[in-house]
Amino acid sequence: MNVAVIGGGVIGLAIAWRAAQQGLRVTLADPAPGGGASRVAAGMLAPVGEAHFGESELLQLSLDSWRLYPRFTDELQSVSGRPSGYRECGTLLVARDADDNASLAREYRFRVAEGLRVERLSSRECLALEPGLAPSIRGGILAAGDHQVDPRLLAAALLAACERSGVDVVRSRASLLVSAGRVAGVSTEEGHDRPADAVVIAAGCWTPLVTGLPAEAVPPVRPVKGQILRLGGAAPPAQRVIRGLDVYLVPRADGSVVVGSTVEERGFDTAVTAGAVYGLLRDARELLPDVAELELVEVAAGLRPGTPDNAPLIGATSVPGLIMATGHYRNGVLLAPITAEIVAALLAGRPALPGAVAFAPDRFAKLAPVPA
Ligand SMILES: Cc1cc2nc3c(=O)[nH]c(=O)nc-3n(C[C@H](O)[C@H](O)[C@H](O)COP(=O)(O)OP(=O)(O)OC[C@H]3O[C@@H](n4cnc5c(N)ncnc54)[C@H](O)[C@@H]3O)c2cc1C
Repeated sequence: MNVAVIGGGVIGLAIAWRAAQQGLRVTLADPAPGGGASRVAAGMLAPVGEAHFGESELLQLSLDSWRLYPRFTDELQSVSGRPSGYRECGTLLVARDADDNASLAREYRFRVAEGLRVERLSSRECLALEPGLAPSIRGGILAAGDHQVDPRLLAAALLAACERSGVDVVRSRASLLVSAGRVAGVSTEEGHDRPADAVVIAAGCWTPLVTGLPAEAVPPVRPVKGQILRLGGAAPPAQRVIRGLDVYLVPRADGSVVVGSTVEERGFDTAVTAGAVYGLLRDARELLPDVAELELVEVAAGLRPGTPDNAPLIGATSVPGLIMATGHYRNGVLLAPITAEIVAALLAGRPALPGAVAFAPDRFAKLAPVPA
């Protein structure tokens, strides 16, 4: 069976690797594999820290993917020979003031009700765990199971694993070919068509723009801009991921720190702004004063693939042979392993994983405009 994957961010790369591992002939097309939002992401694997009211099914999917991560990254490292930056570090959510602390109390009760592993900490207990925190911190929640990966290392390892597993990586934009109502393959800019029995579209926020996509299969995915900073230093100012209500800091093993992020509805704009840098640094310094001493190494903006319910679209569409794997919004790095499992099972004709049905791409069909 021939499979083509359009888009080589962490989602498309993980799918291509898993599909090739099960013996399928896989082509992956992307002008810049490992680019897109995956290149900008912070890499938090934080189903607990990122849990939101009203998103129970997404929480379950996130936990399922989080459970896969240690084995996924071990296997990836042994196939690719490259590290992924996976680190079991935990997350500490902290409150700057009494209002934040009241919000954290609600967040704590919600997580306990969902059966998540969290611990409520006093100011003193937060400072004992992370002495670099501002003494004014009022309290916190420890999510000891929330970890991190370095998305740039992860994407590079996935690309190497794809190439070693026989995926034909074509560095080109691709369009979809449809013939007699079913997918026929992809056409790449280098000029030749590649026939395929199944095509997986994993083009992140650019998915609706993929040429050749039939109107009924265009998903309601939009770009949601996020600006993020990379700071450099000899030693990280914290051991764990630190989250306030408006900002997070992800300390890497090499001493650098990622500070994120804005959430902006600005279409495909990726300009970095002075206001975002100012706001992120101000909020970060209120939590960890020593970040002001670090070098500002990079400012970047990425486009999260957002959906109306903040959950991804994974699965078959109404067009035979066409599979969607997009709309992973703020959790695409976390959700890469489970997305690859769901799509690989679909391609192999194995039964769908339990829970996958909630993310079927056709759940938004009723949002389509009613014909006049
Ligand atoms: C600031 C920020 C912080 C984030 N932090 C986290 C985090 O901590 N944890 C987490 O889990 N997630 C995080 N995310 C979200 C995460 O980055 C995304 O959900 C994830 O990267 C989506 O991956 P993707 O492969 O679907 O899309 P992308 O990474 O955007 O990749 C899409 C790819 O498709 C390619 N493409 C587009 N059109 C075509 C075409 N016609 N032909 C061929 N290729 C095409 C592009 O070149 C691109 O490489 C963050 C995002 C941002 C912006």
